[in-house]
Amino acid sequence: MDWAHETLYSDIKIGLKGNLIDKKKTTYQNLKIYDTPRFGKVLFLDNTIQTTEMDEFIYHEMLTHPLLIAHPNPKNVLVIGAGDGGVLREILKHKINKVTIVEIDNEVITLSQKHLPSLSKGAFNSKKVKIVIDDGAKFVEKTSEKFDIVIIDSPDPIGVARILFSKKFYTNIFSVLRSNGIMIRQTGSTMFQPDEIKENYQILKTVFPCVYAQIVAIPTYVGGFFSFLIASKTKRPQKISYKEVTKKYNKLNLETKYYNPDIHFASRKLPNYIKKGLYNE
Ligand code: SAM
Repeated sequence: MDWAHETLYSDIKIGLKGNLIDKKKTTYQNLKIYDTPRFGKVLFLDNTIQTTEMDEFIYHEMLTHPLLIAHPNPKNVLVIGAGDGGVLREILKHKINKVTIVEIDNEVITLSQKHLPSLSKGAFNSKKVKIVIDDGAKFVEKTSEKFDIVIIDSPDPIGVARILFSKKFYTNIFSVLRSNGIMIRQTGSTMFQPDEIKENYQILKTVFPCVYAQIVAIPTYVGGFFSFLIASKTKRPQKISYKEVTKKYNKLNLETKYYNPDIHFASRKLPNYIKKGLYNE
């Protein structure tokens, strides 16, 4: 076994011990897959940990269920990035009609299905799933389709993912969302990447009437709390009651290892250092 190092930060080096089982320099990025005794299979893109079999459920459940429970009747979902398929697996637990995944790099889908099948769990073969190999920013610019939910499951703002953090992109997301549409995106570590959540919150606030954060702890996304921003065309996601969330959660009989009605609300409770940087409280 050797050390697989994450070099997302120039002054921090994270190492996981394991065996390199596949690698590919794709058109867009350097893809590596390690098999590790502690984390299971680990997908790296450009030497940054994207997802691991051990803790992926936290991220994929929290990127999906808070929105699909808060939305009154989610039927048409758009996912950008998410080539490992974990988000698709979680979305298909809901009574949706269709989910379109726009992933720029087909190799990620192919190698994730081969080496990390537990993430997509066959989701890519579902009749409800439409796979589009394209740049997500280009897709939202040209599509005439309307969506109830948009989930942006991108890497950090590096390389081809950078455009997925721009005002133009969010404005196009706003226009492809229906009148009660909601979007979510990951905005990195609140401690190691403090500007990411703040900058994206400020941009999203100029596009959407309702923007708020939720935080989780994901062991392999180092740097304390990991953050998401939720932007909605209505205030409903912030108004939905505990009773309503519990009723929908139970009615769907959702099988989750992290998300539940308590977490739905607890994940929005922010420590002062995050709240201050966002809501200027
Ligand atoms: N769960 C991971 C995380 O939290 O960072 C990310 C999951 S997934 C592996 C990220 C995907 O976004 C990759 O498969 C990458 O190819 C894709 N991606 C990057 N830029 C993109 C773009 N502009 N349009 C569509 N997909 C993109």
